[in-house]
Amino acid sequence: MKTLNALLGAVAALSLFAASANAQTYPERSITMVVPFSAGGPTDTVARLVAESMSKDLGQQIIVENVGGAGGTLGAGRVAQADPDGYTVLLHHIGMATSATLYRKLAYDTLNAFEYVGLVTEVPMTIVARKDLEPADLKGLVEYAKANKDTVTVANAGIGAASHLCGMMFMSAIETPLTTVPYKGTGPAMTDLLGGQVDIMCDQTTNTAKQIQGGTIKAYAVTSPERLKVFPDLPTTTEAGLPNLQVGIWHGVYTPKGTPADVNERLSKSLQVALKDPNVVARFGELGTLPSSEADATPAALKAKLEGEITRWKPVIEAAGQYAD
Ligand code: ASP
Repeated sequence: MKTLNALLGAVAALSLFAASANAQTYPERSITMVVPFSAGGPTDTVARLVAESMSKDLGQQIIVENVGGAGGTLGAGRVAQADPDGYTVLLHHIGMATSATLYRKLAYDTLNAFEYVGLVTEVPMTIVARKDLEPADLKGLVEYAKANKDTVTVANAGIGAASHLCGMMFMSAIETPLTTVPYKGTGPAMTDLLGGQVDIMCDQTTNTAKQIQGGTIKAYAVTSPERLKVFPDLPTTTEAGLPNLQVGIWHGVYTPKGTPADVNERLSKSLQVALKDPNVVARFGELGTLPSSEADATPAALKAKLEGEITRWKPVIEAAGQYAD
């Protein structure tokens, strides 16, 4: 028994040594950042900006890999199963919290399958439509949607996506169910909105800002409590008559469960550097969002956020009674 204990002690000491030796030299090769939505969409845009800046700080390339589908749960599942060595990370949004209740069967246990790096940003949503949709304002859009409820289509990035959540909030606010059209991300959904194949979408400013400013889509309202500097003329949902439709899409970086704490800390420090990078700050500003504070870009803040948001959204989703398998 004594020998066994001594042996176990030696193994534990060795693995501790290995973990800290890893952290001192980490990273020694490129890191994969999984984005659980299509390339060219809002999450991808945020990820690529942050990854580029973190790569400089870490001295190794962070390669973004898009694993879209099932509202972000496929990509999250992929990271849950990856080696916990710091070379696979996940950048996901609020869907990490809502999918924990929305999906009856998830391939991973949300609160036990990941370690935390930190919060990245919180992005407002915008209610937008194809350019030639008739209504001129949100009130008109609500009347139009009610009058044409059998034909109006709402694009989203699948159950668990931010666009799905916001679309559901819109339908619930106007008490009218509409036909939803799922994509692997709102990047391709935007292409169809521009082409006039779908009518409405509620999507993050990180995907809509350029189109709104270019006049290629119609914008009705922003879901933040205040108007945004990037579109000062766009009313908030509260001003435009739907005060219950307020939501911010927070993003976080995760690693697989078992990733050494000092590796997560290293990633977190790098995330903090990226969020102060003048280029990142400027681009975020143009896209209608702000970088998270240094205190929020930490493992503890992201853990608390995820836990709080799972608790916050659970009763809302249960009341809506719509689940995915
Ligand atoms: N974040 C998704 C994307 O990047 C869209 C969504 O969640 O609605 O495509």
